[in-house]
Amino acid sequence: MDKNPVISYKVAIIGAGVAGLQTCRSLKKEGFQCDVYESANDIGGVWRENYSGMTVQVPRMVYEFPEFEMKSVAPDAFATSFEFEEYVKDYAARFNLMENIHLNTVVKKISQYDTNKWKIVLSTTGKQDQTTHADFLVCCTGMFSTYLHKPKLQGEEKFILSGGLILHTSEVTKEKMFQIEGKNVVIIGSAKSAQDLAVEVLTRGKAKSATMLVRHAHWGVPRDIAGMIPFQYIFMSRFGQGLVSLYKGVWPDGPAYLKLLSYFCYPFMLVIFKCLEILFAVQLHQYDALQPENDLVKDTYGYCHLPSPEFVNSIKKNCTELQKDEVETITENKTIILKNTKKEIPCDILILGTGFFRSYKIFDEEIYNQLDIQDDGLYLYRHIIPPNIENLAFCGTEVASLSNICTDALQAKWITSLLLRNHSLPSKQKMEQNVETMKKWKRSWMPQTNLRSSMVLLHMTHYHDTLLKDMHMNPHRKSNLFLEIFAPYLPKDYKDITA
Ligand SMILES: Cc1cc2nc3c(=O)[nH]c(=O)nc-3n(C[C@H](O)[C@H](O)[C@H](O)COP(=O)(O)OP(=O)(O)OC[C@H]3O[C@@H](n4cnc5c(N)ncnc54)[C@H](O)[C@@H]3O)c2cc1C
Repeated sequence: MDKNPVISYKVAIIGAGVAGLQTCRSLKKEGFQCDVYESANDIGGVWRENYSGMTVQVPRMVYEFPEFEMKSVAPDAFATSFEFEEYVKDYAARFNLMENIHLNTVVKKISQYDTNKWKIVLSTTGKQDQTTHADFLVCCTGMFSTYLHKPKLQGEEKFILSGGLILHTSEVTKEKMFQIEGKNVVIIGSAKSAQDLAVEVLTRGKAKSATMLVRHAHWGVPRDIAGMIPFQYIFMSRFGQGLVSLYKGVWPDGPAYLKLLSYFCYPFMLVIFKCLEILFAVQLHQYDALQPENDLVKDTYGYCHLPSPEFVNSIKKNCTELQKDEVETITENKTIILKNTKKEIPCDILILGTGFFRSYKIFDEEIYNQLDIQDDGLYLYRHIIPPNIENLAFCGTEVASLSNICTDALQAKWITSLLLRNHSLPSKQKMEQNVETMKKWKRSWMPQTNLRSSMVLLHMTHYHDTLLKDMHMNPHRKSNLFLEIFAPYLPKDYKDITA
């Protein structure tokens, strides 16, 4: 990098979701030349126009850009995907980001040349492929938008030929909702998007019936614990995160005293978390077959979700039927035959809440091999940097927290601070050691999923602390000790950092 890094440095950002936009905003503010390449015809990523009528899982105060308050929604209300789409556009307009964004531009291939500079092959609708170059690359391609996981079902060709419809949850747009009226809808999966749709197809879509099929039961976290305490006071405060650490172990970069305490406190924590499980089961109506196999904290690190009261009511009142089973066959008579019970369920429209998978095939073979992708994901230094590849960072794609938008903002700031040389990376060997420690710790207790490498969730504040300490900033952002311990850490606590 030159003496004046800002003037001569060209940064390419892939993806214009909330991570890409915040990366662009952060770097642009410091004077870097940035180009954002977005394959879709608009910005916003997952919020672009998919997920008709769904809401953000958490209240607005927990999920907003730290330095750009979402004034159109009350702090404790849950923004809809439509409201959020507008808000993202307002953010881009406020910080003049559109001039940096190339829409309808797919990044097809990326390779390194020279002294670790990047060669990027772009494919733009209606034009010949073009090649561009950059000094630094930030990958913001997201976890939940690129490759839909659509399992092949026995009998699906005949089902479709006879007029049946199979959609992924992300394909249920406003227009598709109109096709649902009077139809029997079956939804596979138990994630937040599947739950929202189970309610949405009955209320807005006026479906005849809605059935949810789940293979395994998972713990939900009530929005208000015991109907009184907003979940963020427990799961996003230092107090709550301390309890989780004493139960499941301390974040590897966490304080030594907490590690010692966790050794002695485990039995008490076991009792506390078992009581929480009973409370959650009562609140969310998770009895009998719907009792999860994993304990609450472990399960959260694979399948975290906060069911809406509308969903819980729909299950309680049997408006949405919930079956713990899986599809054996889907037939041309518009029925699904279940694998275990052999029960037949009427189905005109099948919605797959079966998630996504990530692909790193945009990188050429050499880079792809260096990334060393594992069955449980891509392990990175600070969830941002691959230790053995220069001039590459990931923002948002390899991290899952309770407020991804806020975590992305801090990652973007961290990357900017690195490029400004306000902080530096440790040696390659130290980064690799750090990655190994994190991998070992996660594998010691978190469930095996293809996103395990990304999981930060209930240790979010500890992760944010680490990023802030790297940047030589004070991680304690509250005005007094009481709030520091018991108040939830929210995006607005970091607004001075990202502003
Ligand atoms: C219904 C729903 C509710 C959610 N609720 C919450 C919540 O309450 N709290 C929370 O923290 N998170 C929530 N999330 C998760 C949400 O995905 C993240 O918070 C965040 O929006 C992801 O942003 P991103 O920018 O990382 O990725 P994305 O929004 O997926 O954006 C990635 C962008 O990259 C583009 N792209 C990918 N590959 C290429 C390529 N090769 N070339 C060019 N462009 C490319 C894509 O088109 C996309 O626009 C929710 C998600 C959904 C679907």
